[in-house]
Amino acid sequence: SIELRHRVAVITGGANGIGRATALAFANAGASVAIWDMVEQAGQALVEEIDGNGGKAAFFRVNVASPADVDAAVAATVAQFGTIHILVNNAGITRDAQLIKVKDGEVVGKMSEAEFDAVLNVNLKGVFTCTQAIVPFMVRQGFGRIISAASVVALYGNFGQTNYVATKAAVIGMTKVWARELGKRGITANAVAPGFIATDMTRGMPDKVLAAMIDHTPVGRMGEPRDIANAYLFLASDDASFVNGTVLSVDGGLVMG
Ligand code: NAD
Repeated sequence: SIELRHRVAVITGGANGIGRATALAFANAGASVAIWDMVEQAGQALVEEIDGNGGKAAFFRVNVASPADVDAAVAATVAQFGTIHILVNNAGITRDAQLIKVKDGEVVGKMSEAEFDAVLNVNLKGVFTCTQAIVPFMVRQGFGRIISAASVVALYGNFGQTNYVATKAAVIGMTKVWARELGKRGITANAVAPGFIATDMTRGMPDKVLAAMIDHTPVGRMGEPRDIANAYLFLASDDASFVNGTVLSVDGGLVMG
């Protein structure tokens, strides 16, 4: 099994869903886990759960879209755990709307500037900000793992998700840049492209859409948060040192090639 003893991992959006499963999996592998999220209650409850299992974890309240929050969280995390080896850029949001919505030949709605900006701020600028703030520690110690949440929709498109798909495609692009810029320093950068995973993010989707997605997924089910946590765990490990700049699809075969 994968071993993360002596590693310190930051997991953004770590209080719920895929991030929560990742915090549990990393702690179970022996890592010290810094859970960065905006929701204090769920974050603290998770820290208690990990403590109860004999693991090491701490919660830090941070909006990844705020550089001031991120700087403070880096300082607090390093004060507590000494450094940071692994960054999982997992926080993400959706604000779905069609580019334009047309009814009877008339434009009756559109994605607003606020919806566009909100998603870019968290899913794109947040990934940039967290990575830039943490990489200096990775450079100093000659080891780092940057793992970022992309999505199948970056490769596939998705109705109503101009903003979200743009950010997930951008995450793949940034990952490839960082893989080139940092590879010689013992730092790898990779992205994971989850398929449809049972979390709060997908809970609101219409049953018809979910059923269609399951139908298109060769393994015939939705993913569980743990399925993605397992991929993050591998990419975070010492064993993944020659995996760099890649996009690992974890989608039951929904999008191939
Ligand atoms: P989720 O909504 O269950 O959890 C997201 C977590 O991120 C929450 O705890 C939330 O509080 C936190 N968060 C949101 N905005 C934040 C911010 N500005 N700063 C700090 N924390 C913030 O979502 P999830 O399904 O677990 O998704 C995790 C990642 O996986 C996201 O990047 C998402 O885009 C991606 N993803 C999810 C799916 C899916 O089907 N669920 C598919 C592909 C990709």
